[in-house]
Amino acid sequence: MTVQDTPAQILVVEDEPKLAALLRDYLSAAGHQVQCIADGLEVLPAVRAAMPDLILLDLMLPGRDGLAICRELRTFSDVPVIIITARVEEVDRLLGLDLGADDYICKPFSPREVVARARAILRRRPRSVSDGGLRLDETTWKARFNQVELELTPVEFRLLKALNEHPGRVFSRDQLIDRLYSDHRVVTDRTVDSHVKNLRRKLEQAAPGQEPIQSIYGVGYKLEW
Ligand code: CA
Repeated sequence: MTVQDTPAQILVVEDEPKLAALLRDYLSAAGHQVQCIADGLEVLPAVRAAMPDLILLDLMLPGRDGLAICRELRTFSDVPVIIITARVEEVDRLLGLDLGADDYICKPFSPREVVARARAILRRRPRSVSDGGLRLDETTWKARFNQVELELTPVEFRLLKALNEHPGRVFSRDQLIDRLYSDHRVVTDRTVDSHVKNLRRKLEQAAPGQEPIQSIYGVGYKLEW
């Protein structure tokens, strides 16, 4: 029997087909959804599109090398990265480069070891809402809640972002209006309420039974779980 991990979306970047297949098989067996990419040029677009929970990144890749990928990735995302290197003696040098990677694995590796390292990193994820929690990507304006992608309008995205910057803090409607509209247009409280209502409906669809946005009577709203 396989012990199931908390399911995560894992992007495996590895140009050796056998290794990629091996990683995919083991990670899938642990309950994860796995996407494999072999071409370095495809990695960052895939990250932006799929917002994975973890990336396994081989360094020597066709198209673009893993170091350059990791550096650019860190300009827009904090997704955990496990770097896969071909040489154990390379790890010291990589550590010195301060790439922002979360772990390093050397080839040849045991796939079980990779699954265990992935599990250790994924456990560090904030998981206060059943799984997955809330993820906002400001570069793509995409949001995921409970591992479900939300179809948000720009105003709903900004609203969720504002609330999420200080979970547990109560925001008045006026404070939220300031954060939603940069042009200081006149917006009524009722408009805010209507956006909150729509946002709640979308969060509820993604995580039935969860009500992360709470109304504080006479004051405003807060995000809490
Ligand atoms: Ca390679």
